[in-house]
Amino acid sequence: MDDVQLALLGAPAVPATGSLAALIDGEYVSLPKCDWVLWGPCGCPFGVTVASYAPAEDDAWKAFYDYKREIAKAQRRGNRLELMTHERYSREVYPRMTVRCPHAEKAGAK
Ligand SMILES: [Zn+2]
Repeated sequence: MDDVQLALLGAPAVPATGSLAALIDGEYVSLPKCDWVLWGPCGCPFGVTVASYAPAEDDAWKAFYDYKREIAKAQRRGNRLELMTHERYSREVYPRMTVRCPHAEKAGAK
């Protein structure tokens, strides 16, 4: 998992905890406490996956899409992934996932 850790962090990890950690807003947070959020081009959140199952961003894209071409298409469309703490997800993102995207009809976003 060492290569994954480096790929994710791009910075020295904290091996003291014995688990993978992500550097978020200047603080190390253990991966089980993090989520990847899939944002739509319109700025609405469309999905979430647990970071401990998808440590690197590439893993997270694969968790949302089956094929590379789908990933490429989503990225071209403006979808993006953001790693954040589960706490922040629960507070800021989850409430927005319980309502439908208000932009869908206009933008034809999925
Ligand atoms: Zn939207």
